[in-house]
Amino acid sequence: MEDLPNGFTGFSRRDPNFESASEALRKAEIARQSIDFSDRDREHRIAQEASRAARSGWQANLDGLPRLDQMGSLWGGGPSVGGAQDVSRFVNSVEYNGILDRRFDLEKITAIPEKDRRWAWIEIDRSAIQNNMAEARRACTPGTKIMAVVKADGYGHGAVPVAKTAVNSGAEYLGVATVDEGIELREALINAPILVLNEPPATAIPLLLAYKLMPSVYTPEFAVRYAEAADMVDQRAPYHLAVNTGMNRIGVRHEEALGFMKQIGFHRALDLKGVFTHFATADSPEVFDFDIQLRRFTEVIDDLRAAGVNPGLVHAANSAALFRYPEAHFDMVRLGIALYGYHPCPETRRMANLKPAMSVHARVTDAKTVPMSEGVSYGLNYRSPGSVKICTVPLGYADGLCRGLSGRIDFLVDGVAFRQVGDICMDQCMFEVDLRTYNNRRGVNPQIGDEVMIVGEQNGIAVTIDELADLMGTIPYEITLGFSQRLPRLYK
Ligand SMILES: *Cc1c(COP(=O)(O)O)cnc(C)c1O
Repeated sequence: MEDLPNGFTGFSRRDPNFESASEALRKAEIARQSIDFSDRDREHRIAQEASRAARSGWQANLDGLPRLDQMGSLWGGGPSVGGAQDVSRFVNSVEYNGILDRRFDLEKITAIPEKDRRWAWIEIDRSAIQNNMAEARRACTPGTKIMAVVKADGYGHGAVPVAKTAVNSGAEYLGVATVDEGIELREALINAPILVLNEPPATAIPLLLAYKLMPSVYTPEFAVRYAEAADMVDQRAPYHLAVNTGMNRIGVRHEEALGFMKQIGFHRALDLKGVFTHFATADSPEVFDFDIQLRRFTEVIDDLRAAGVNPGLVHAANSAALFRYPEAHFDMVRLGIALYGYHPCPETRRMANLKPAMSVHARVTDAKTVPMSEGVSYGLNYRSPGSVKICTVPLGYADGLCRGLSGRIDFLVDGVAFRQVGDICMDQCMFEVDLRTYNNRRGVNPQIGDEVMIVGEQNGIAVTIDELADLMGTIPYEITLGFSQRLPRLYK
């Protein structure tokens, strides 16, 4: 921004062929590594091609150069390209480089469903999200808008599908934490208003304007740069003012809010679309600090109005405040955790009938009886009491099943609970089936390929996100978004 007056320095236009610079460089590196280093001329041509590719996004033309399969590198002996690739994503380069065996039909092999590639997956129940939207709507003062907060990939549920479901269920606004999260929604052709619940770096302003994302604003420097960049392209600069009423995370201090608006108000492009604050204690049993924040916020809004500043959409409530404090609804509520079906605190349990949207599933990959006193998993910390079968499922702490839960949780098969035993490994873990059946009166005897419920409800018994959070000494937020991207998300 310093060196060019137009505010757009450093940003490539996102044309359809533009990937990220790092992605282009990575692909260029693959191309570079795939050459026969004994041929200097060829190496030079590829290097040229690769640098052109890095500059323009990936359009390298490697015609006439040796194919990897001709060099035998896939099976060792030649230079390697490093790392298994997701076949569906790198189809072009994989095909081009001859990594893929031509006897396999690309369309057919990429069509193999994710959950049949790996026997562990997450299911997201859209009807639960619809139910939770309806519960929130029921609790809202009539006329209140709902912002669906889909930051952190929709709390691990998938930002795009959740945003679409929420908007189709009546959410008027979307909230994200970062500019890139907003861009992801726009690229999925979601056209609801999007608020970035933060003031991004000023260098990201061109992206805000190009993708029509509203920032939260609380510094004059950002406000002015934003306004100037908007002016330059004949746009308005819509934003929400963030007010710090006591949480001391972000925002203009409440006593200074009016002064701030006067300070930046001269800029014609700035377009105040809303004013908001965030509560530090909406989920705690006592109300003292909450009341202070609410009073300060109300005063800010009154002062702005008295000074002739239209605050636009006034909003303050998160999920906890939405259900517990109707006096904090104002014009809009910001629905986060409750949208996904989890209670922000015990107090809200009797106030709403929320349905968890996420369940975690796997299939048994190994099953065997283990003689008495033999150990299981790293450290052999669990010992077989005899007459048990040990079953393995292919998910572990790399998938977000925290190692700290080892030996402390149950899995469900056919509506019967089985104890997880042994240390949870990175990619796998084990559970115990007691063949004497005292905890298994129905005689359920899991076999390889049988479905196991890791989180969810089956025949009236449940393993819940809340239980896992309690065991880990954390909150449900951290558990749901801890389930890694490696687990495919299936939407039903
Ligand atoms: C994350 C967030 C929310 C949503 O909070 P929940 O407790 O998940 O409902 C609301 N407002 C802001 C500013 C947030 O950062």
